[in-house]
Amino acid sequence: MKIKQIVSVFFLVLLIVGCTSKTPYTNRSQMILISDEKELALGEQSYEKTLKESKVIENTKDSKRVKEIGKRIAKVANKNYDWEFNLIENKAKNAFCLPGGKVVVYTGILKVAKNDDQLATVISHEIAHALARHGAERISTNMVSQGIQILGNIAISTQAPEYTKSFNIAYGLGSQYGVLMPYGRMQENEADEIGIYLMAKAGYDLNEAVKFWENMNEGKKESIEFLSTHPSSETRIAKIKNIIKNIEKKK
Ligand SMILES: [Zn+2]
Repeated sequence: MKIKQIVSVFFLVLLIVGCTSKTPYTNRSQMILISDEKELALGEQSYEKTLKESKVIENTKDSKRVKEIGKRIAKVANKNYDWEFNLIENKAKNAFCLPGGKVVVYTGILKVAKNDDQLATVISHEIAHALARHGAERISTNMVSQGIQILGNIAISTQAPEYTKSFNIAYGLGSQYGVLMPYGRMQENEADEIGIYLMAKAGYDLNEAVKFWENMNEGKKESIEFLSTHPSSETRIAKIKNIIKNIEKKK
């Protein structure tokens, strides 16, 4: 090993040791190599761009529902974010939450989320991804697997196109990501679990969460590619039912 490589490995180890954090509720250790500040700055930037490039629906019954339900969940999320909730005209059955609590819901998902409790399910799930910093975790894993260029990445500006691109992919932006083609299986299960806890705290009907994912899966053919990243619908629903059972036991 050359001196330069040894130094890089040394810094990598330091960075990883210094950057483990814990997810809320599930208390899982995770490696995060991107600072809160950088994550929030990237979130803000992508959020503004998304709003600028989309048709934001305002002052309709549905846009008000999204904001009301969002606020009710944000209240129990116990995170000092500057929360915002917007409904955007888009046929995709999708939603996402950017770092800093910027939640975007597509009109397409209203066809699947058939009542307030079901809409709360998808919003809670997306908020859970943000609270658990799944996007930052995904970026960090990519950084390590790509052999990192650690020092370079630290210096990189949030404006750098390659950074923005990996950010968008990591946070599930764009119509083919979010609920549709999102995080890895483990993170999806975790977001389901944290999402259910949030729903319970906010006083929503947990059984509607099961119905929401059933609606989401209706008529959908699960390709091998889809199954490799998603929990299968049956496994997912079974796990959600279990979490609900445990919560109800504790009551
Ligand atoms: Zn998800």
